[in-house]
Amino acid sequence: MRHVAVIGSGPAGYYTAEACQKAFGDAVRVDIIDRMPVPFGLIRSGVAPDHQSIKGVSRRYEATALSDNVRFVGHVSVGTDVTIPELLDLYDAVVLATGAPQDRPLGIPGADLPGVVGSAAFVGWYNGHPDHAALAPALTGPGAVVVGAGNVALDVARILAKTADEFAGSDIVGHALDALTGQASDAITILARRGPHQIAMTPKELGELAHLSRALPTVDPADLPPAAEDAVLDPGTRKAVAHLRAFADHPRAGDDARTLPIVFDFFAQPVAIEGDGRVERVIVERTRLDEQGRAVATGETYAIPAQLVVSCIGYQTPRVEGVPYDEKLGRFANDEGRIAPGLYAVGWARRGPTGTIGTNRPDGFLIADHIAADTADDSAKSGRPRLDALLASRGVDVVTFRDWQDIEKAEVANARDGAPREKFVAVDAMLGARK
Ligand code: NAP
Repeated sequence: MRHVAVIGSGPAGYYTAEACQKAFGDAVRVDIIDRMPVPFGLIRSGVAPDHQSIKGVSRRYEATALSDNVRFVGHVSVGTDVTIPELLDLYDAVVLATGAPQDRPLGIPGADLPGVVGSAAFVGWYNGHPDHAALAPALTGPGAVVVGAGNVALDVARILAKTADEFAGSDIVGHALDALTGQASDAITILARRGPHQIAMTPKELGELAHLSRALPTVDPADLPPAAEDAVLDPGTRKAVAHLRAFADHPRAGDDARTLPIVFDFFAQPVAIEGDGRVERVIVERTRLDEQGRAVATGETYAIPAQLVVSCIGYQTPRVEGVPYDEKLGRFANDEGRIAPGLYAVGWARRGPTGTIGTNRPDGFLIADHIAADTADDSAKSGRPRLDALLASRGVDVVTFRDWQDIEKAEVANARDGAPREKFVAVDAMLGARK
């Protein structure tokens, strides 16, 4: 028997549990520990609420969670309720699957003004993460500026642009639905510090902007390279750039009704955020590309009026005391997932915040291979019973997967018409929904 503790119940955590089941069969016990009383991490609180088909992957994790050798140990904070050295003492392998839920800092003057938020906070707000439920972003005013040219920037711009009807069937939380459909910016600007060929956006996500009822995506044709140069792009980026070319090619029939511009501002790097006590404008510097394709400042600046700035420039993994950390890359220092004897990292905590949800699956199998190679199946560790005793002695109110199923039932019962669920946005409310 091997005893494995996985910290974090998002995709990387569940794929690791699944891989351990496949590798060791009945001869493994996996405890998936999460500080939240609810599982699935990024699937619940990161994936956009209007992308329900992507969220459907949690059904696969549920099958893993309901098997006898995998447990969900929710509402347990590693570092507070139990430490990494204690877990290493109890388990053969401890796997950090803590993701990358912290925003990378924008690092420009004024970035700490009220009205400037990171995408982790903004996405957490509309997805009902308890840490961000009280965010109350400023939605009415001259502009929302979204910094970054990745898929998170697209999620944020799309959610800011949608009407109430366009949220039908989504599980956007009530507080965000009310706020977003009652208020609006005059314009949404996506600031990309490089050009159309350097975007980190994917075609499907970019194409969605073309079908919004009140918003009109626009691209300055002068920013687009000659069409013949698209041939050098990988097929995905080429398709995405084709959408940008279509956005540059307006007006089109029906555009009159679309009064909310989503402006793609390419070669545009924010250099300061200004305002009297809160954000009023973003100072942007024009860039050009150098021979290596990097953004170089040109010295030309201009101001974009804004009441809200959402920085979507990537994420980092939170530090855990005593665990080596790579400052530059914003994740745990590791060698192919190995951190120290018995200690591993998987998913975004290992690789950094890139790739799709499915990218985490091979990651989980890699870690299961490491565990097979590094540990023996006749473990002297005690695993579950001693963790339970330790947590009970500390008065920790552990949430099980069965408890989560009660919470989920209550969320489904609370759903508004047509929505799959209305999420609890406070930990106490989640705990109170247990039978
Ligand atoms: P990302 O794909 O790494 O994009 C980050 C963007 O921020 C890049 O355009 C980058 O520009 C820009 N940036 C970085 N530092 C900057 C700075 N200091 N100033 C201005 N711009 C800066 O990250 P993400 O959008 O957070 O997405 C994370 C991962 O989740 C990605 O793999 C993404 O595809 C995935 N995701 C997928 C979906 C989906 O499939 N529906 C939805 C959301 C997220 P440079 O290129 O110039 O560095």
